[in-house]
Amino acid sequence: MAKNEDLFKKVVSHAKEYGFIFPSSEIYDGLGAVYDYGPYGSLMKNNIKEYWWKSMVQMHENIVGIDAAIFMHPTTWKASGHVDAFNDPLIDNKDTKRRYRADVLLEDYVAKMEDKVQKDIQKARKRFGEAFDEEKFVTTTPHIVENRARQAAIMKRMAASLDANDLADVKALIEELEIADPDTGSRNWTEVRQFNLMFGTKLGSVADGSTDLYLRPETAQGIFVNFLNVQKSARMKLPFGIAQIGKAVRNEIVARQFIFRMREFEQMEMQFFIRPNTELGENGWFDKWRKTRLKWHLNLGMGEENYRYHDHDKLAHYANAATDIEFRFPFGFKELEGIHSRTDFDLSAHEKFSGKKIQYFDPETNQSYTPYVVETSIGLDRMFLAVFSHSLVDEQLPDGTVRTVLRLPAILAPVKVAVLPLLKKDGLPEKAHEIVRMLKYDFNTVYDEKDAIGRRYRRQDVIGTPICVTVDHETLEDGCVTIRHRDSMEQERVSIESLRDIIAREVDMRYALARLEEE
Ligand code: ATP
Repeated sequence: MAKNEDLFKKVVSHAKEYGFIFPSSEIYDGLGAVYDYGPYGSLMKNNIKEYWWKSMVQMHENIVGIDAAIFMHPTTWKASGHVDAFNDPLIDNKDTKRRYRADVLLEDYVAKMEDKVQKDIQKARKRFGEAFDEEKFVTTTPHIVENRARQAAIMKRMAASLDANDLADVKALIEELEIADPDTGSRNWTEVRQFNLMFGTKLGSVADGSTDLYLRPETAQGIFVNFLNVQKSARMKLPFGIAQIGKAVRNEIVARQFIFRMREFEQMEMQFFIRPNTELGENGWFDKWRKTRLKWHLNLGMGEENYRYHDHDKLAHYANAATDIEFRFPFGFKELEGIHSRTDFDLSAHEKFSGKKIQYFDPETNQSYTPYVVETSIGLDRMFLAVFSHSLVDEQLPDGTVRTVLRLPAILAPVKVAVLPLLKKDGLPEKAHEIVRMLKYDFNTVYDEKDAIGRRYRRQDVIGTPICVTVDHETLEDGCVTIRHRDSMEQERVSIESLRDIIAREVDMRYALARLEEE
């Protein structure tokens, strides 16, 4: 645990020191849970966006993109249910004055119980070796069966109390389980209250006649209200999707986990419109998108063991099925992306509140109906944190020194190539500049001539640059350079003419996108 906390602190300080993420308005001591992306951070964020956007819009003939405004007509949020139901149950600790989400306290409690189970499974696997049958072990070992049953009972009771808005029972559950403030151990809790997460503002003059507005808490509604505009203008036929990347804001109660939970963040959402009743079951669209999205994550090569599905017991008011893709963050497995089967809830609600018909005429069945929706929704910043925290490692080298390296998936690295003249004289800088000019149309390329070559390599390692190109005296004679690979630190001699292709094979997104198409 302490080790993971250390890692998380290191992630935060590394992100700041090397120009990835800064606290917002830091000269005024920052603003809670708001962050700015620096030179390398903004590049990397754009690369994540590109990977998502291309995989969705460019690779699918039946998915198109939009870019809707953050302000929307206020009735949107009545129709979507956000005015009435976008609440988090909050609880305060009277001693520490710290505020928590009651549901998160309970979920963390259950996650700790599950950690114990996982430890027992690991131990048993070591003991039994090849012959170990996990399924049998967890279904026949009494204390594990009992532990899992208790976990399920706690989650079921929480879901039922939240559904019934029985907040007193949520508090009773926290007390029965003797859940304490994670920071201090105090169990002096207030009542549980509901807290709406939307930020309000005003349109027009503050005096009479101004309109109360909300800043959008999710990008999805911009897609739903534009359903007919998009379907007609782009002549889309069901099934088809609308994708969007954009800012969303939420007045989060608990905001202590760096960019994991921000008050202003970006979402990458795709709403897939389908015929009613084609969403569930083995060949349903929900399952298809669940698998497609996990494949997108695994394709980055950050290890299958770091992802897992979490199917929801407690469904949001709009969903008939929901799964999270969870990632192993430094503070444990947490939601990275949500896949939700939203039925016709949103389109029907907007039809009702706007009084406008929002239906699709299906030329194959000659019928008009309200399409159903399967949504995939991922936080861009959360994805950034997943990639960044996973990639940051301190590596023990054979000579006993430690190298800090950001092993980013090459397609997401902010800088792809660094060109380094071995010396600052003898025509080497000129040659290196010439190579930068050759590469910069295809790759984000930097030039660095300061300090010894080893230090320059390390400078690129900490920002995750996959390839360094070194120009030396021989280059001037034989037209070859040394390329050094970030992860293996291996070096090879290649011709300047072949550089572009060699680099592209490692960093070009086209190969990663092509892998997504493979069965
Ligand atoms: P959580 O349970 O963590 O609050 P959520 O279930 O409310 O998340 P959704 O409304 O499904 O999240 O939003 C979709 C995605 O947007 C999430 O999977 C997450 O990646 C991202 N996201 C949601 N809230 C935030 C936030 N405050 N900061 C950063 N990313 C967020």
